[in-house]
Amino acid sequence: MINSLKKTTNMRLTNLFFKTFKEAPSDADVPSHKLLEKAGFIKRLARGHYTYTPLMWRVIGKLKKIIREEMEKEGSQEIFLPQLHPKEIWEASGRWDAYKAEKLTYLVQDRDENEYCLGPTHEEAVAHLVKNWITSYKQLPKNLYQITNKFRDEIRPRFGLMRCKEFLMKDAYSLSANTQQMDNEYKKMRRAYQKIFDRLEIDYVIVQADAGKIGGSQSQSEEFQVTAEIGEDTLLVCDDFAFNSEKAPCIISKFEYPSTQEPIEKFETPNVRTIEDLKNFAKSPIEMLIKIIVYKLTHKDSEEIVAVGIRGDREINPIKLTNHFKALDVTLAEEADLKKVGLKKGFIGPVNCPVNFVADNSCKPMVNFICGANEIDFHFKNVNWKTDCEEPIFDDFCQAIDGDLCPLVPEGRYKEKRGIEVGHIFSFGDKYSKALGAFFQNEDGKPQPILMGSFGIGVGRLTQACVEQNYDDKGIIWPKEIAPYSVFLTAVNMKDEDQRAAVEALYQKLLNSKVEVLFDDRKERLGFKLKDSDLVGMPYKIIIGKSYLAEKKLEIEPRVGEKIILSEDELDSFIKEHLLS
Ligand code: ATP
Ligand code: MG
Repeated sequence: MINSLKKTTNMRLTNLFFKTFKEAPSDADVPSHKLLEKAGFIKRLARGHYTYTPLMWRVIGKLKKIIREEMEKEGSQEIFLPQLHPKEIWEASGRWDAYKAEKLTYLVQDRDENEYCLGPTHEEAVAHLVKNWITSYKQLPKNLYQITNKFRDEIRPRFGLMRCKEFLMKDAYSLSANTQQMDNEYKKMRRAYQKIFDRLEIDYVIVQADAGKIGGSQSQSEEFQVTAEIGEDTLLVCDDFAFNSEKAPCIISKFEYPSTQEPIEKFETPNVRTIEDLKNFAKSPIEMLIKIIVYKLTHKDSEEIVAVGIRGDREINPIKLTNHFKALDVTLAEEADLKKVGLKKGFIGPVNCPVNFVADNSCKPMVNFICGANEIDFHFKNVNWKTDCEEPIFDDFCQAIDGDLCPLVPEGRYKEKRGIEVGHIFSFGDKYSKALGAFFQNEDGKPQPILMGSFGIGVGRLTQACVEQNYDDKGIIWPKEIAPYSVFLTAVNMKDEDQRAAVEALYQKLLNSKVEVLFDDRKERLGFKLKDSDLVGMPYKIIIGKSYLAEKKLEIEPRVGEKIILSEDELDSFIKEHLLS
């Protein structure tokens, strides 16, 4: 009784904590962010921190329900971990320094000056949890998940909920006794994710991804990417293969280099600073030039300056570089860094290079190439590996782009798409369990580290991604499973007694049938109310007017699609089929 009364009051718009806006705030620059603000779903508290209003909390509640259902079908169990993590567990895993180097974590002290971080992710906390709890292979596998806030001091929070400093994440952690179990847990999570995203009716691609700082040597890693123009990630897709461009292996177009080597020659290149300048000055195809970028690598206890060469027309992918050097962080070297090690900006080259020099595979076939002479205002031409300088270590450091050959499909070429990363699944083995001492006894009684995987969904980001894929010039079009209400109900004229009585009666009927209905009981113009209804984006609206009173025909308008006209006795089956979740 109390429950239904509570529900009744919540679903009357005059009682709801609700407001819509003509304009979005000036910092909202993508459609989904504008719409969520205009329709009163979120409000910014600070840069990268948002409040979810009751409307939004209903949407999030439904999404959490879908996530819980699909996770639990695959055997995952819900837990709740603290958000403040003691420094010790992050030091044990070696990530205290890595996250500190990137300035991504919020560091906090308590009254006794004990150090903590606000959890950006929870691998360490889970490894700590299972230590001494899971002691035998008989207790494995297990899978634990939570839906809580994460904290990351993002350098560029933007696009509303897409990139926040505090955001809601579903994170799950698999715990396995052997690689077969670990792979099986991965498959189960992949299946759960597919079901979750399918229920949201969104277009997404599963791409091979970099495992980032969480990864270890045994990692397998895929991202779920919602395709959208505004996506921050570049995806490269070829037939059934799809990669985040951070990870996409690269074969770049061939170039016919000369068949005979010429003698090296130094030439004066005054004021030639960029690769474009050099190309024009030397009147040479850009493929004959080596472009060199200098990076600063951060390791646990040291920093290193590395010069990286790549064919003149291509760009370096810093993630590939980070992985090659197993660095904690990679940033572009600044002018002061170059000076310190004797590098001459604009004139750097592999011949007598004063720092470690590595090169992308695109440099390997080069013959008679042009590069900096490590001397101001001079370059070399006709440079050849082994003849004029030591052959460097070559690896794939290249940023793959649209049109590049895909190494996995004969003659296949990458097509570029934009994506919003809404989920990430990966297995990484024993990295955290070993570090935190989470061991179990195997069948032979031998201690072994538990093998782990972690599986994230950005709950807020995913909700906004649904809007980014589903809106029109009137407002949001929520996927049915997460719409805040199924139906928007009002009367043409709430001041008219007959209409009001009829709409109140229908409201009660819908409530009794357990339909989630937002009853706009405001005494406003119909046009004003319909505008709000379309902006907020419920799947159906029902408007009671004179024609309903005269003919007892109900007009039901889907948010998208043709009007449906029902007689009163057709309403029950319509409710069952379309309005109940
Ligand atoms: P990104 O590459 O976008 O920074 P990530 O790879 O660092 O994300 P994960 O550690 O894989 O993120 O986190 C799991 C999920 O959490 C991501 O797939 C994404 O959906 C979400 N997420 C990550 N960072 C943010 C953020 N700053 N704001 C909102 N959601 C986020
Ligand atoms: Mg990720």
